[in-house]
Amino acid sequence: MNIILFGPPGAGKGTQATQLATNHNLLHISTGDILRAAIKEGTPLGIEAKHYVESGGLVPDSVIIGLVREVLQANIGPDRGFLLDGFPRTVEQARALDTLFRDIDIKDVRIVILIAPEEELVGRMLKRGVELGRKDDTEETIRHRLEVYTAQTSPVRAYYEETRQVSEVDGLGRVEEVAARIDKALRQSPPALHW
Ligand code: AMP
Repeated sequence: MNIILFGPPGAGKGTQATQLATNHNLLHISTGDILRAAIKEGTPLGIEAKHYVESGGLVPDSVIIGLVREVLQANIGPDRGFLLDGFPRTVEQARALDTLFRDIDIKDVRIVILIAPEEELVGRMLKRGVELGRKDDTEETIRHRLEVYTAQTSPVRAYYEETRQVSEVDGLGRVEEVAARIDKALRQSPPALHW
């Protein structure tokens, strides 16, 4: 099994993804984590991505698609599944992922969207900004990230819903409650077999 976990910023994707990946022995691929690590290390990717990440915009599709392609091609095989967290974030990324799945013959992919009301998302991100010192978790940048989500990422859901089943999970409540809802959704959702 492979999983695409998406949803607005602050919905709890990272927290849930970490646990889910461990439970199902999946490689957890968080594009946000990869970018933050690259920025910290000052690699060419980090230097290119810094401005976008810190201002709450999206890193260009060409950069992020190349990155995900490399990571998946290098690590994924018949006995190693993955959990994508934070990718795809645009319809162009979703299309590129379709092509990649065809190229490397990936079939069993479950798509889960984690949602929460906007005020909850803002509250969680502000809290995280204080706790983790994330530069993009300030009020102004948070509002911008939510706008970016609505404009560029929410169409990904419609894109998938045209041809595949998307499981919507309520991200409100305790971490374990949300995890149980995701597990239930995964048990009920048929794999998307055609890419
Ligand atoms: P996240 O940790 O998923 O909230 O991502 C943090 C930031 O990394 C985002 O606000 C974007 O600037 C950048 N980022 C992460 N994933 C992507 C992606 N798939 N496409 C473009 N930018 C991304």
